[in-house]
Amino acid sequence: MKSVHCTIYGHDYVLSKDVTEHVKEYTCKHCQHQVTTSSNGQLTILNDKRKEINNTLQRMYRVKKERKLAF
Ligand SMILES: [Zn+2]
Repeated sequence: MKSVHCTIYGHDYVLSKDVTEHVKEYTCKHCQHQVTTSSNGQLTILNDKRKEINNTLQRMYRVKKERKLAF
């Protein structure tokens, strides 16, 4: 699945989703490999469990932001 480019140069990640101010999801533009920011700020593989966590985080973050705007 890994493209030749990634094998030689490593993954080339682009921001694919803004979860919160600190948590982002990135996708490799060559092979679609996905990573996300973990709780310690390092990049980690984006698996189904983390996707779920990120979706929850994003929902909470949006609610918080909307509340802030309302006041
Ligand atoms: Zn890649």
